[in-house]
Amino acid sequence: MLKRILLLFCLVTLATALLSANSGKRAIPAQGVAGIAADVAQTVPDAAAQNDAVTAQNVADAPKLIAFTFDDGPHRGSTDRLLDGLRERGAKGTFFLVGQEIDEARDLVERMRDEGHQIGNHTWSHKRLDELSPDEIAQEIGKTDALLKTVAGKGEYWLRPPYGFLRPGTENLVGVPVVKWSVDPRDWESRNAPKIIRAVTDAVQPGSIVLLHDIYPTSVEAALQLIDALSADGYQFVTVEELLRRNGVTPAPGVSYRSGDLQ
Ligand SMILES: [Zn+2]
Repeated sequence: MLKRILLLFCLVTLATALLSANSGKRAIPAQGVAGIAADVAQTVPDAAAQNDAVTAQNVADAPKLIAFTFDDGPHRGSTDRLLDGLRERGAKGTFFLVGQEIDEARDLVERMRDEGHQIGNHTWSHKRLDELSPDEIAQEIGKTDALLKTVAGKGEYWLRPPYGFLRPGTENLVGVPVVKWSVDPRDWESRNAPKIIRAVTDAVQPGSIVLLHDIYPTSVEAALQLIDALSADGYQFVTVEELLRRNGVTPAPGVSYRSGDLQ
C-alpha cells in the first residue's frame, strides 16, 4: 500500500513537473513572440502607415487637372447653355471654332473670351486638312485665325484639325500648337448623355484632354454632369493652355499635344 502511495506521489510529482516545464516552455517563447510581434506592430506598420499617409497626402494635394475641349461650334442654343453651366461651376474649357460659324454667334465667342475659356481654330469649313493642298490648308487656317483676331482680339489661336488629320510634313503651315485628345467618347455618334458620361468616366485620368462637341445638347448635358461628378472626385477643369503649362510643357508651333503629359 505504501509503495502504491509512493508510486502515485512520484507519478503526480512527475506529472506536475512535466506540466510545469511544458507550460513554461510554451509560455516563455509565446511571450517572446508576442513581444516581438508587438514591437513589429509598433514600428514597421506604423512606418508603412506613415508612408501611405504621406503618399495619400501628396496625391490628395496634387491637382488633378483635366481639359474639356468642345469642337464644331459656336452653335446658338447649345453653346450658350454650356457657357452658362461652365460659369455656374467655375470650370474652364477650350472651344475649337469653325470659322464659317463664327459670324452668326459673335456674342458667344466674346463670352468665351470674357469668361476665361481658351478659343482655338477648327478651320474655316471643317475639311480634312490631309486632303488639301498646302495653299488650301493655309487658307482654311488663316481665314479663321483672322476672323478670331477680329472678334476675340489679338492672341494665338491653337489648331485642332478636323478629325485630327494633319499630313506629315504640313505641320510647318500651322504656325501654332496642335491640340489632339486622349479621351474620345464619340459623343457625335451616340448622342446619348449617359453613354458619353460612362465612356469619359471609364477613360479619364489627370492630364486628360477630352474631345466633345458643343453643337449637341446631349454632349452639353453630359459635360456638365461630368464636371459635377469629377469635381467631387478632386478634378479641376482648365484650358488646354493651362493644362500644359501646369504640367511643365512648353507648347511649340506645329507640335501635337494629346494630353498634359505628352509632347
Ligand atoms: Zn470637328
